[in-house]
Amino acid sequence: MIINSVLLLALVAFVLVYWRWDEVQGYVWKRKYQQQSLSEQDKATLLKYMSIYRNMTDKERHALECHIVWFLGEKRILGRDGLKINRAMEVIVAADACLLVLNKPWPLYPNVKEVLLYPSSYYVPQTSKDGAGLVNYHTSVRQGESWPGGTLVLSWHDVLEGNRLPGDGHNLVFHEFAHQLDQQTGYTNGTPELSKGQDYKVWGKVFQRAYSNLKSHVAYQMPHVIHSYGATNEAEFFAVLTETFIEKPHELRSYDPELYGLLHQYYQFNPSNWV
Ligand SMILES: [Zn+2]
Repeated sequence: MIINSVLLLALVAFVLVYWRWDEVQGYVWKRKYQQQSLSEQDKATLLKYMSIYRNMTDKERHALECHIVWFLGEKRILGRDGLKINRAMEVIVAADACLLVLNKPWPLYPNVKEVLLYPSSYYVPQTSKDGAGLVNYHTSVRQGESWPGGTLVLSWHDVLEGNRLPGDGHNLVFHEFAHQLDQQTGYTNGTPELSKGQDYKVWGKVFQRAYSNLKSHVAYQMPHVIHSYGATNEAEFFAVLTETFIEKPHELRSYDPELYGLLHQYYQFNPSNWV
């Protein structure tokens, strides 16, 4: 009788934990990470390399630091092609990644397991079939990738360049982690899971309009505030748009206030305060 009761209690506890897993994990992480913070040296690294961090309010900086500590505790950053990873490199990658989710609650990037860092652009072997069915072997050069399974690949040279030039609309880490946010839904289609209160219909309408607008500008080789690579497909549009939103907020807002407003609602921060 007692054994049955104990088993029943254990089963109820298991179901409760399974059902509220995100909350349980959040509680454990809070206990583990909230007492920790970045060292003065880590903060000096961010002040030196991340202009957005310099321009943040104290509250935003504190939120970002908490996320960075958590990110570095839960995700792996590994060097490839002989690249030795040091603390400053880890802090910079984590800071750029966590900026996108600055005001979102843990768990952040639930699918992400690891970030692989190459010294610079890297070669990827590829095969393609031509019209006659012949298979061609070739290599393509890449700066970064985001795999739905939770691995990101980044060129360290391009990570640094993205931080060195904060107003050019390019930041590799923002780009690849925006893909992760998109991929979290199980699809890679340029529509991430929206924030509370956001309407998918409105998002779809505004995004399609903006995407078509960019495509027609690219077709006629007209300049546009969003880089032409965004016209590749909807997923690239969302990733490039994220880079533009953070790095060229004033230009994007004056060009398309409705689109800017949606991104502001989704990301829950206003990058025009940081420029
Ligand atoms: Zn991309």
